[in-house]
Amino acid sequence: MFKERRTLGEAMSEEVRNVIIIGSGPAGYTAGLYSARAMLEPLMFAGYMSGGQLMLTSDIENFPGYPQGIGGPEMMMQLREQAERFGLEVHDKNVERVDVSERPFKVWVEGEEFRAQTLIICTGAEAIWLGAEGEDAQKGRGISTCATCDGAFFRDEEIIVVGGGDSAMEEATFLTRFASKVTIIHRRDVFRASKVMYDRAAEHPKIEIKPFRSVKKWLSDEKGLTGALLEDPRDGSTEEIACTGAFIAIGHKPITGFLEGQLETDDSGYLLHHEHTMTSVPGVFAAGDVVDTRYRQAITAAGMGCSAAIDAERWLEDQH
Ligand code: NAP
Repeated sequence: MFKERRTLGEAMSEEVRNVIIIGSGPAGYTAGLYSARAMLEPLMFAGYMSGGQLMLTSDIENFPGYPQGIGGPEMMMQLREQAERFGLEVHDKNVERVDVSERPFKVWVEGEEFRAQTLIICTGAEAIWLGAEGEDAQKGRGISTCATCDGAFFRDEEIIVVGGGDSAMEEATFLTRFASKVTIIHRRDVFRASKVMYDRAAEHPKIEIKPFRSVKKWLSDEKGLTGALLEDPRDGSTEEIACTGAFIAIGHKPITGFLEGQLETDDSGYLLHHEHTMTSVPGVFAAGDVVDTRYRQAITAAGMGCSAAIDAERWLEDQH
């Protein structure tokens, strides 16, 4: 089934959609594919920066079905094309706010109101960057926020990992598979990481932990990252460290601001599932990194997007 693309104006009107998917990326596009194939005629607001975090990833080598790997943006385009082939209607617009206090739910985009019986929220999470001098220029050229995605590009190279939580310990330990040396940089000597994960990193022969260090500035040449200027926050003294790769693991934040607290979240702001993929409001589903504090992989997000579409379809059936 092919569906003609409609303009945003044509998509609005008074109609109540079966499903509005908010956000794109693997979770959103998979939810779109499944709900389109279920003849629910889904409408997606993919965001101005559609495609999510994978648009920042150069090569994806761990998504099954791509033996040679695939570029992140290319994969997102293919997922989108596949869902659109079955009728997903996509608009690259941001959702400003929603009202889930009664059905049909309301969604506002550029001041226009849209209504739907169900919502599937797939807005993802964004890695928190340090914001140190020189960072923007080296993003994707040596500085990354995802070791699973980019670690293999740093075989036999020296890498630093910034952070003192479980993510930093996990990323550092994972990176020892590739790197010749991994140095963990943490701004104090108290670590949020669990003891078991801290110990695993601290005892690893390839890992050195440097407490009381912050990145003041990233150093680079025309080929990419060459190191970092570190500062000791206690006395402001500085030292340089050489590295060709750096991974920032200081946490993620889920993208939920447009929900204005209408759905239950955990203490970090991640949406909570109440029944399968349904959130605290019946009829509102969520999938991908906006709920996931544990796996955060493209494949797990895609799987959850599939689950959310099936849950939404069954929930709609139950309403009749
Ligand atoms: P986290 O526990 O919040 O740790 C963030 C770390 O980054 C802290 O050490 C923090 O330092 C540091 N940090 C924050 N902002 C910084 C900045 N601007 N400059 C320098 N350092 C900064 O985050 P996480 O490690 O991502 O973990 C999040 C949650 O996921 C936790 O509940 C964790 O247990 C869980 N998780 C679990 C696993 C696992 O079990 N396999 C793996 C990963 C994550 P301060 O301590 O000084 O604030």
